[in-house]
Amino acid sequence: MDKQVEALVVGGGAVGVCTAFFLAQQGMQVTLLEKDALASGSSHGNAGLVAYNHAIPLAGPGVLGQGLRWLADPESPFYIKPRPSVELARWLLQFQACCNERAVRAIIPPLLEIGRASHALYTELIEEYKLDCNYEHKGRLYLYRTAAMLRKGEHKAQLLAEHGVPSELLDASAARRMEPNLQPDVIGGVYYPLYAHITPGKFVHALAEVAGGLGVNIHTQTEVLALESNAGRITRVVTTRGDFLPQHVVMATGAWSPEWSRQLKLRLPIQPAKGYSFTVRRPAACPNMSLSLEEAQIAVTPMGSEMRFSSTLELGGMDFSINQRRTDAMRRALSRYLKGMENLEVLELWRGLRPLTPDSLPIIGRSPQHSNVVLATGHGMLGITHAPMTGRLAAQLVAGSQPAMNLRPFQVERFQ
Ligand SMILES: Cc1cc2nc3c(=O)[nH]c(=O)nc-3n(C[C@H](O)[C@H](O)[C@H](O)COP(=O)(O)OP(=O)(O)OC[C@H]3O[C@@H](n4cnc5c(N)ncnc54)[C@H](O)[C@@H]3O)c2cc1C
Repeated sequence: MDKQVEALVVGGGAVGVCTAFFLAQQGMQVTLLEKDALASGSSHGNAGLVAYNHAIPLAGPGVLGQGLRWLADPESPFYIKPRPSVELARWLLQFQACCNERAVRAIIPPLLEIGRASHALYTELIEEYKLDCNYEHKGRLYLYRTAAMLRKGEHKAQLLAEHGVPSELLDASAARRMEPNLQPDVIGGVYYPLYAHITPGKFVHALAEVAGGLGVNIHTQTEVLALESNAGRITRVVTTRGDFLPQHVVMATGAWSPEWSRQLKLRLPIQPAKGYSFTVRRPAACPNMSLSLEEAQIAVTPMGSEMRFSSTLELGGMDFSINQRRTDAMRRALSRYLKGMENLEVLELWRGLRPLTPDSLPIIGRSPQHSNVVLATGHGMLGITHAPMTGRLAAQLVAGSQPAMNLRPFQVERFQ
């Protein structure tokens, strides 16, 4: 039998669950559909940083040159799988257009605004609902082994300082006072005090439980197969477990979102960007705070009784294979920065696909072709950071109320 629903959220990652929660908080009758399990996409094994002052987009001056150099190295943290794809070629051209100082300066303010608003929501939600997700606010230390990368790091810190992001430049001994287990050839660091981290999968499950308590119907193992429309509205959502007749639909399908481009009559310039992580039992030498090992592009995050390190960005389509050469390289690189990382007990080797837009800004807004569809996707490297505010904004759009932020920088129309 067809099911009538007021608000239907598609996707059970951080963005979908946050959206379902805020919709229910507004008093709406909400159903969430997830094709697999909750947090089975990118929202599980990521680095868990609530990087609310991290506002530097991936595209920037010199990034293409560095990317090309990395392409020649099979162990590098960056890779583009050569393939005949018009979408990839178009995406790369749009990315290239963002690789300049002017574009970077335009992208920083909206990233900061949504990041800071989102962090405020994290602290509210975690406190009010006592969400068990290993939240810690200890800042983040960027570490460098080469003078060239340290200079780039200092430049980023100066750029962010112009936007009110505090940081502290550290020489080798100051960095070692913060983290005693650094290897001798770490030459310096930059400390950003305004960074938090969580165990992301735990957050998604804990908030989903709260949302369930507010009446959200969560259907896992329920895949959306088709969206049927009439007169500029989605009228029927066909799934593996029957059809839904929604008044409103929120698409929070992360890296899978481009699959809906045709049915939504839209171009969604999102490339899946694969990354890997190792979750290990917390070693004695675990850092006190989250670290970024800059030349290797590795994030290290303490997570309660565990530690996670993650890296790589591979533009290879919807490919979930694990490249062991790269994951081995990650393990070796970790030991080049930190002592005591030799005999780690690996609990999980994971890969996930970031939904990456060319400008590193998410897509949040009403779908131009369907008046009852809201898009909440394309969060790239910062979907955990931005999920709560995205959820609130998407819920406000569904309710027809004034969004709490200017959504123009996030509208999909910027790409059309
Ligand atoms: C290695 C790595 C490290 C990262 N580190 C960080 C970090 O430190 N901080 C940060 O902010 N971000 C980080 N990210 C990015 C972050 O993980 C993502 O941006 C975020 O998880 C995206 O959330 P989402 O809900 O949009 O997508 P997902 O979590 O991928 O959720 C989308 C969901 O939609 C479901 N779905 C898809 N199609 C259908 C369908 N047809 N029917 C029903 N369900 C469907 C999928 O199964 C999936 O569960 C990292 C990512 C990676 C890979």
